[in-house]
Amino acid sequence: MSTTAAVHCVATLVRAKKPTTAIHKKPTSSSSSTPSPSFPRLIRNSPVFAAPTTVAPAVEMEPLEQVQSGFVQFKEEVYEKKSDLFAELKEGQSPKFMVFACADSRVCPSVVLNFQPGEAFTIRNIANMVPPYDQVKYAGVGAAIEYAVLHLKVQNIMVIGHSRCGGIKGLMSIKDDGTTSTDFIEDWVKICLPARDKVKAEHTALSFEEQCTKCEKEAVNVSLKNLKTYPFVKEAVEKIIEVCQSTNPSMKLIGAHYDFVNGIFETWED
Ligand SMILES: [Zn+2]
Repeated sequence: MSTTAAVHCVATLVRAKKPTTAIHKKPTSSSSSTPSPSFPRLIRNSPVFAAPTTVAPAVEMEPLEQVQSGFVQFKEEVYEKKSDLFAELKEGQSPKFMVFACADSRVCPSVVLNFQPGEAFTIRNIANMVPPYDQVKYAGVGAAIEYAVLHLKVQNIMVIGHSRCGGIKGLMSIKDDGTTSTDFIEDWVKICLPARDKVKAEHTALSFEEQCTKCEKEAVNVSLKNLKTYPFVKEAVEKIIEVCQSTNPSMKLIGAHYDFVNGIFETWED
């Protein structure tokens, strides 16, 4: 691991104050004064796969009102102010990065790393895992990697782990006999079983929470290794490509960890 850089956490999203006529809202017969149903304000991932506990709900916008308001804000503050960029993006995309990030709502890479539209081709899944090459079991991920590498010709693939990852906690909680209690989650996170085994073998003195933190980074390393099982990734990483008398550097595989507890973003090259 080498580079360490601090990242400033993003503050609360400010909603636009006014509705817009530019967005078409499906008519509804219900009154707009209908009180919002209460819903979980904060879901804690403990115990690992149990039903969540919640804290008291705050007054919230209706979901559709929230997304409409969010789009108005985006359109006014980003889309209309960056008209040159969006005119360019109408023609196509040439993202510099392919990014694997967790589906966790707290770790959106475009927010955390300030990626602009067109900069990052992003896959998000449970615990930001890259499975090994498998045309049957993991075709969806394979298709995304193939498209990013062969068609978009991304220069970097970055896998971003993060603090307090529920998927990693799930991986670390799988029983030693391999039995599982979920339909999909545990089979998915088992992709990074080598990381779990390494941490459990090398860090027996650490607490479970500390082991999970170690595993968040080790799982990224397993994913970086798995990326090389895709022939087109291996070739792009190992070859320096000569195009039109200029030399393009080989593709980079980058590991990263976003610690939102302490506001730290760490990166390392494979
Ligand atoms: Zn996660």
